[in-house]
Amino acid sequence: MAEKRRVLSGMRPTGKLHLGNYLGALDNWVRLQDEYRCFFFIADWHALTTGYAESREIPENLMEMAADWLGAGLDPERATLFIQSKVPEHAELHVLFSMLTPIAWLERVPTFKEMVEQLGIESPSYGLLGYPVLQAADILVYKANYVPVGVDQVPHIELTREIARRFNHVYGPVFPEPEAKLTEIPKVPGTDGRKMSKSYNNAIYLSDSAEVITAKVKPMMTDPARKRRSDPGNPEVCPVFDLHKIFTPSDDREWCATGCRSAGIGCLDCKDVLLKHLIPALSKIRERREQYIQRPGELQDILEDGSAKARRVAGETMAQVREAMGLR
Ligand code: SF4
Repeated sequence: MAEKRRVLSGMRPTGKLHLGNYLGALDNWVRLQDEYRCFFFIADWHALTTGYAESREIPENLMEMAADWLGAGLDPERATLFIQSKVPEHAELHVLFSMLTPIAWLERVPTFKEMVEQLGIESPSYGLLGYPVLQAADILVYKANYVPVGVDQVPHIELTREIARRFNHVYGPVFPEPEAKLTEIPKVPGTDGRKMSKSYNNAIYLSDSAEVITAKVKPMMTDPARKRRSDPGNPEVCPVFDLHKIFTPSDDREWCATGCRSAGIGCLDCKDVLLKHLIPALSKIRERREQYIQRPGELQDILEDGSAKARRVAGETMAQVREAMGLR
């Protein structure tokens, strides 16, 4: 039987994941594990590119995030789940790729400038400029065919392809050219109507209990033009309705939309319907993640085993790289 095509993706260990992280990436990863040979990694070195002084927070954040991964349905039997820094081959390939990557290629990556501006970084580090090269090493050390990404990450995959091409041209064919697998990301608003984000303090977390979710949804922002119960509303501009589109089956959703437009229901009635569907969907994830938080040894073993498996694959690639470059 032909080997499955390979998929690789990673996440920085930011701690507990929220609904936006789940719907923007994790939910898609869970589906990919049936069709592809998947490598999913915790990008702890990448976290240092913008937060090198916060390195001590990484171990705890990493465990919380891994518990969310498993809670959401990633399965260590079907996907290789590992920690980047446990596979030093990423660093070795990064160094080698650094030698053949012109600085101009990195300076034109749009996310570099955006990140520097958005985060107000006065003096960007060498690591931040070079992080797409580390990303190329992350991908190519597993010879991944596909990388699930949002549209903003496409230039990074293009850079990875350019690095693979240059390497193959100079030293002979070792790497496939991976393709971006565009992930359709639904609009996931936070409780204040802005994009859901940890830094806006508007997020619903996968670890939130039914009570916490209820307390967050009840005061959630709605159609701003619907000030009184008697005012008809417009679901299409309402952040609560964006969540209905994701979690509420069509008959209940239609009931809410009609009641909103005719002022037949109030926003609290509408939010109750959302909670009826949102809470059960998240409680399954929360209960599963909780089991891993209660048994950190098991979680550690899963990550150790996954990292050992990843290391074997990365080791095979590095043997070919050294051979191709004559670095025996
Ligand atoms: S009834 Fe529902 S859709 Fe309409 S404004 Fe209120 S919360 Fe939003």
